[in-house]
Amino acid sequence: MTTHRTRMLIIGSGPAGYSAAIYGARAGMEPIVVQGLQPGGQLTITTDVENYPGFADVIQGPWLMEQMQAQAEHVGTRMMWDTIVEVDLEGGSPFKAIGDSGDEYVGDVLVIATGAQAKWLGVPGEQELGGKGVSACATCDGLFYRGKKVAVIGGGNTAVEEALYLTNHSDDVTLIHRRDELRSEKILQERLFKSDKITPMWNKTVERFVAGENGALAKLELVDTVTGEKSELEVDGAFVAIGHAPATELFKGKLPMDDSGYLLVEPGTPKTAIPGVFACGDVMDHTYRQAVTAAGTGCMAALDAERFLATLEFAEKEAAE
Ligand code: FAD
Ligand code: NAP
Repeated sequence: MTTHRTRMLIIGSGPAGYSAAIYGARAGMEPIVVQGLQPGGQLTITTDVENYPGFADVIQGPWLMEQMQAQAEHVGTRMMWDTIVEVDLEGGSPFKAIGDSGDEYVGDVLVIATGAQAKWLGVPGEQELGGKGVSACATCDGLFYRGKKVAVIGGGNTAVEEALYLTNHSDDVTLIHRRDELRSEKILQERLFKSDKITPMWNKTVERFVAGENGALAKLELVDTVTGEKSELEVDGAFVAIGHAPATELFKGKLPMDDSGYLLVEPGTPKTAIPGVFACGDVMDHTYRQAVTAAGTGCMAALDAERFLATLEFAEKEAAE
């Protein structure tokens, strides 16, 4: 077991974690970023990003995150390919975290940027057919369904983007939504309704994912949310795109959270209830959940971390004199 010591420990490597690292490194805090299972975060599973400021042309999510990582490294951040499995926040700074590797990480400040993960419907067949027709990432798995029938479940930005993306591979995409109105941005809705490859299916939820004789997904059993009527849809692939849940399991009982599990912070700041522990990005934001807002709150976390450390170090110096 190795102990890695830093003034600024960052858990998570999405836009929030990398932005905190860029600011933290430039402020001399020599950050360590523990990257987790998804280095680069959620944008690594999308294609086009056209709302992140600074790029006149459409850019790719994975490329943007590679650039952010490189930028953080260039200014002095250490990247760790590890996943935190336990944190010790008791007794205040310094804070300890244990990685899946067995390594220990100790930081004078802790920045939590663990983001969010895809939600599942939790109905029969869903987990069993994962990788055999059921997926939560069209950009990762869409190519497997070239020329086949696919469905996307959900009505937010992710669902609409996934459906549009899938038209690159399939001429038969059904968007299944539990209401008759989409939640997604209007510009995406316009693109969706213009596509002759996508058929919206309103007021339906999936009750069961059913396998065919070959053991792969063959059809969806649906129920109408208004009439209760049952129906079936034959598909080769189904993409669940019903949103994300904050990755806060590690902090249960250690930091205050809201009913949905988002970390609570002092309004307008990334400060959690424990001085020296900051939360930024999707893990504390159930409203905006954008790359640019995650980056913004990552910056705020680093600036507040710097102030916290300055005060702490001043107090320690005073006490020593
Ligand atoms: P995330 O990107 O979720 O990153 C979380 C990080 O924490 C990951 O690196 C993960 O590995 C790490 N982590 C989690 N648990 C641990 C642990 N225990 N130990 C160590 N590390 C851990 N936003 C836009 O602005 N424009 C878009 O076009 C856009 N498109 C999107 C498309 C899709 C398909 C999705 C899913 C989201 C999209 N978003 C978009 C939203 C955007 O991706 C998120 O708002 C943003 O990524 C949140 O950043 P974050 O840094 O808070 O967390
Ligand atoms: P979201 O906005 O929370 O939408 C989730 C969708 O799934 C909603 O339409 C919801 O239905 C539906 N849903 C939820 N639970 C369901 C269930 N159990 N059964 C059936 N349907 C269910 O999630 P998201 O689309 O993943 O977006 C998350 C965040 O990322 C948002 O802030 C979004 O703006 C951002 N994002 C941005 C972009 C972009 O800017 N291009 C792209 C992707 C994501 P209801 O509508 O009925 O609630």
